[in-house]
Amino acid sequence: MTIVRKPQWLQKKINPAAHAGMEGLLGELRLHTVCQEARCPNITECFRERQATFLILGAACTRLCSFCNVTKQTPLPPDPGEPARVAEAIRRLGLSHVVITSPTRDDLPDGGAAHYAETVAAIRSASPATAVELLIPDFLGSRESLARVVASAPAIIGHNVETVPRLYHIRAGADYGRSLGVLRTLRELDSAVRSKSGIMLGLGETEEEVLAVFTDLRSVGCSYLSIGQYLAPSKSHHPVREFIPPERFERYRAAALSLGFAHVESGPYVRSSYHAARYDGQP
Ligand code: SF4
Ligand code: SF4
Repeated sequence: MTIVRKPQWLQKKINPAAHAGMEGLLGELRLHTVCQEARCPNITECFRERQATFLILGAACTRLCSFCNVTKQTPLPPDPGEPARVAEAIRRLGLSHVVITSPTRDDLPDGGAAHYAETVAAIRSASPATAVELLIPDFLGSRESLARVVASAPAIIGHNVETVPRLYHIRAGADYGRSLGVLRTLRELDSAVRSKSGIMLGLGETEEEVLAVFTDLRSVGCSYLSIGQYLAPSKSHHPVREFIPPERFERYRAAALSLGFAHVESGPYVRSSYHAARYDGQP
């Protein structure tokens, strides 16, 4: 197997000493973040700015994506006190925009949709000015679950396609057509929904396949797009096949904008929640 070395544009350093304040708050309120669970390379930058992406419904997933660092084990029932604790953390951090996500909970009859809605309501009650962005799983395509989430009226609802359809074997239990269907259903339920998706590059996809995904996303009314470099959490995860140079990310951004996306973040360190307030027009 070819070993792909990290290029010079991917040398961001993690400084755990800068995380202490955020980790103290998260520990006190018994909250999980994607920043920590996914070992996000932006964690020092985001935690310094007191930004985090909250992981509700526990830190264990019922699926087995080979690129993901979230724990694969039997999840616990939803914690009824969690929405209030998430809201309290956001109030204390004074966030103007926050991203809330979860592992996939195929074990729950509604996939966790009610818990998402309760979390939005709790945040709205504690911090009415905070824009809430949800990054949801596919809820096995359940229209009822999607309707529950849409009815909670978050500012943005995201669902990531993650990769091109040919590589969906790395998303065990997921289906490209179902993910597109989730985005389509969001718009059918409320034509004013601002929907967002994300794709990781460097998993072995071709440029042609990436551009076809952009077109598919626009065909289901997706407004926002994030494009980032896949980084393997460990040697046992799906290997990085290619490090995409910054200029190609720029080409993809231009191509996506020309297809009509309202905002696109594209770059080696872009993650769905990286600079999330920018999709909302904030700096
Ligand atoms: Fe957390 Fe998102 Fe920042 Fe990563 S990019 S550290 S997941 S807020
Ligand atoms: Fe990770 Fe989401 Fe896949 Fe679960 S469904 S393993 S949280 S990427």
